[in-house]
Amino acid sequence: MTSQQVEIALARAQRVCTLRGARLTPVRRRVLELILRADQPTKAYVLLAKLEQERGKLGPPTIYRALDFLLAHQLIHKVETSNAFVACDDAERAHQSQFVICEDCGATEEIQDDDIVASLRRLGEMRGFAVERQVIEARGLCPACRVGQRQA
Ligand SMILES: [Zn+2]
Ligand SMILES: [Zn+2]
Repeated sequence: MTSQQVEIALARAQRVCTLRGARLTPVRRRVLELILRADQPTKAYVLLAKLEQERGKLGPPTIYRALDFLLAHQLIHKVETSNAFVACDDAERAHQSQFVICEDCGATEEIQDDDIVASLRRLGEMRGFAVERQVIEARGLCPACRVGQRQA
C-alpha cells in the first residue's frame, strides 16, 4: 500500500469512528497504520515492538486493547490460522469474511462471500445450531507463487 493509500484508509477509519461516536486515539490510529503499511498480516508482538520503539514501554494490554477496538469496528480482521491481523477497507458494511492465504509468501486476501456465510448458517440451523462466528481460511498458493513453482 502506498503512503497515499494509507492516508486515505486512515481518513476513512477516522470517519467511521466519528460516525459511531468512537474515539480513534493516537495509539489505535498508529496500530491501524502499522497494519495498513505491512504487506503481510501483522502479529501483535510485532506491533508492540514497533510501538514501544516509538513511545517507550507500553505492555501487551495496550496493544490488545487497541486491536480489540479496531476488530470491534471491523477496521481490521484477525487471520486465525496466521494469528495475525489485516486491515479491512469495508468497515462501513457489516460483513463476515473468508481468507485465502498463501503458504509460501504469506499473501492474504479477504473474500466476502455471502453465500458461504448463508450456507454455513443454514447447515448449522439444520442441526439446531446457531452460528455466530465463522472462521473460514483456505491455505494454498497465490498466483505469483504458483508461477514460481512452475518455473522451478
Ligand atoms: Zn473485511
Ligand atoms: Zn504466494
